[in-house]
Amino acid sequence: MSRASPEIIHTIALAADLIKKSHRTVSLTGAGISTPSGIPDFRSPQVGLWTRYEPMEVASLTAFRHNPEQFYNWLHPMAIQMHTAQPNPAHQALARLQNRGFLSVIITQNIDGLHARAGATDVVEVHGTLDTMTCTNCYQQYPSSLFIEDYIDHCIIPTCQKCGSILKPDVILYDEQLPRKSWLKAEEACKHCEVILVAGSSLEVMPAAKLPIEALKNGARLIIVNNSETYLDCRAEVVIHADVAEILPQIADEVLNG
Ligand SMILES: [Zn+2]
Repeated sequence: MSRASPEIIHTIALAADLIKKSHRTVSLTGAGISTPSGIPDFRSPQVGLWTRYEPMEVASLTAFRHNPEQFYNWLHPMAIQMHTAQPNPAHQALARLQNRGFLSVIITQNIDGLHARAGATDVVEVHGTLDTMTCTNCYQQYPSSLFIEDYIDHCIIPTCQKCGSILKPDVILYDEQLPRKSWLKAEEACKHCEVILVAGSSLEVMPAAKLPIEALKNGARLIIVNNSETYLDCRAEVVIHADVAEILPQIADEVLNG
């Protein structure tokens, strides 16, 4: 870990102070919180999944229904990474804050389940999750853990134990609506918070990237911790451009012990 500059230490203290004084803080997290766990940002040009594949042709609901084998082939490398990934200090810091009552809801754009694995108890997954799957015919839901080894090791496509139809991971595909219940909960949480902590999201993927606006409209204060700039940096009270796995634990320590 690099030695933090006095300026960073000061902004960490400011962020912690906002969280300590707030009666209701929510967090919005994105791909950047899982990159320290070895899960690449699949939208980034370096990873190239979207340049090698046209998302609508493999990762849309239409494509899934038309050609599930192609979808499962495309998903395979991501599924391996997400299956083996472990929560990092950033996930753990948010879980600590939540378990000690300093953070109400964690809203995430990620589908990797790492917040829950870090011990977070109230997580809203607005893009769905890879942890469960649903039958495309009878809608029976299953934990993905029942099928993951066969799929990862032998590329066996998961099928329903009741009717034999193909299962679809409960992630939101490109031409699918966001899950209504989760989305409403995320919006409500943002409308009623006093502080919103954006962590590891570049705020580029709509509509989730608009959620902090709901909070700002209602007078909430905004903290952003992200490697790169976002369109809301100018409206944030505290902006820290650094690795979330380095900064969030320091904010949590300051809130809990400072
Ligand atoms: Zn079924």
